[in-house]
Amino acid sequence: MSVVGHLINGEISLEGSRSQDVFNPATGACEKQVLLASKQTVEHAITAAQAAFPEWRNTPPIKRARIMFRFKELLEHHADEICQLIGQEHGKISHDAAGELQRGIENVEFACGAPQLLKGEHSKNVGPNIDSWSEFQPLGVVAGITPFNFPAMVPMWMFPLAIVCGNTFVLKPSERDPSSTLFIANLLKEAGLPDGVMNVVNGDKEAVDTLLNDERVKAVSFVGSTPIAEYIYTTANANGKRCQALGGAKNHAIIMPDADMDNAVNQLLGAAFGSSGERCMALSVAVAVGDDAGDALVAKMSEAMTGLSVGVYSDASNDFGPVITCQHRDKVVGYIDSAEQQGARIVVDGRKPKVDGYENGYFVGATLIDDVKIDMDSYKAEIFGPVLQVVRVKTMQEAMKLIDDHEYGNGTCIFTRDGEAARYFSDNIQVGMVGINVPLPVPVAYHSFGGWKRSLFGDLHAYGPDGVRFYTKRKTITQRWPSSGVREGVSFAFPS
Ligand code: NAD
Repeated sequence: MSVVGHLINGEISLEGSRSQDVFNPATGACEKQVLLASKQTVEHAITAAQAAFPEWRNTPPIKRARIMFRFKELLEHHADEICQLIGQEHGKISHDAAGELQRGIENVEFACGAPQLLKGEHSKNVGPNIDSWSEFQPLGVVAGITPFNFPAMVPMWMFPLAIVCGNTFVLKPSERDPSSTLFIANLLKEAGLPDGVMNVVNGDKEAVDTLLNDERVKAVSFVGSTPIAEYIYTTANANGKRCQALGGAKNHAIIMPDADMDNAVNQLLGAAFGSSGERCMALSVAVAVGDDAGDALVAKMSEAMTGLSVGVYSDASNDFGPVITCQHRDKVVGYIDSAEQQGARIVVDGRKPKVDGYENGYFVGATLIDDVKIDMDSYKAEIFGPVLQVVRVKTMQEAMKLIDDHEYGNGTCIFTRDGEAARYFSDNIQVGMVGINVPLPVPVAYHSFGGWKRSLFGDLHAYGPDGVRFYTKRKTITQRWPSSGVREGVSFAFPS
């Protein structure tokens, strides 16, 4: 059985005695073992990153960018292999994996603009013979900790930008689907990145806690579930580190009575069930304004869902694949059970899907639940499965209040033909990323990604302009070169 190790100082390392099974979620078979880094192994990676920092920090940004250009080409060249690894361990269908990879590559393209991004600000003659400028300096060793659901894209939200800003990096990917992440990181060496600038340690809490407690790590980017995000943020802050910790979500779509219902249903299908609903931006709640909208939505949606197919990643005719583990499948099914027990109506039931040839896979079929109430467990929690719940309300204000009152505030969307309503919604809703007739408003790489409320701990969002700020510290220099022969007098007044 193959073993997934670490990448430390440019070499694959098989250090460590603890390991964990990696499953193919479509077959239920354990196909690999991933090594779980000990404290010592993580410290080796931090030491390598620390040693690489002085030279990398002084490497001209244009040279750092050139490595990213080559890295982008290598990612495109190896796209099929990367998508294959994602499919084998995550289970997402090849077209979905290709979309994820493309969004990751777009972050590499943004990072290629390093010389422009790091230009800083300059003011001449802020006083007599005095010039002042602000520059962005790297932080040092930066850590990234990432979730299972985007093993290629989410790490690429972090390390390309952190590295072109002059930092060195230690990444701790998800232990559930580690291979594509390690493969991608290995390409950086081929692209010309000096050893030690990028390191990957696979592992669990022991590895994460070592990163959080080592004073050489200056900043931590985290993406994962909210309880862990809160723990990471609190611990990193207590240890004096800069931290951005992105957490879970419950994304609502408001369906207004004037919405183009056929379009809304088409959009909702992909946004609710794509990637088995295992996206932090998945639309998991449709809030229908008025019973006519609710009835039309449920009727059209249930009809459209009969054509969905759940299956193995390698068959591109499938719409979505299995969920990540058998424990997670049981959890998703448990939420559907609880909704039924608490009085909701299961309109399309995906609890027992039939997937020929893959009877041991962790599949849940697309599920539609109507008459969901806000005190139900299935409404309050992030289910992270292919389950769309319908809540019926009478007014748009009621729909917005429901969204504002939810603990999460990652993404939301409104389907309407009314520009005034859409503008009011986007202006006032307490959510970080908003779509207007756009179901998955994931910002492009040159904007930044982040939710509000308990979907993000920290001030700066991920990637884009906020990412540059996160991975640099500002230094402002004020410089005087007096004209020859001119002597400044003594002054005790505050300089003005
Ligand atoms: P997770 O929180 O279980 O794991 C995320 C990372 O934290 C992994 O690397 C894991 O090894 C580590 N970890 C887990 N338990 C830990 C502990 N007790 N102490 C220290 N580290 C620990 O998340 P997941 O199940 O891999 O991913 C799914 C979650 O991620 C969902 O909640 C989803 O919404 C969220 N997510 C959020 C975003 C976003 O941008 N807001 C994006 C993708 C995923």
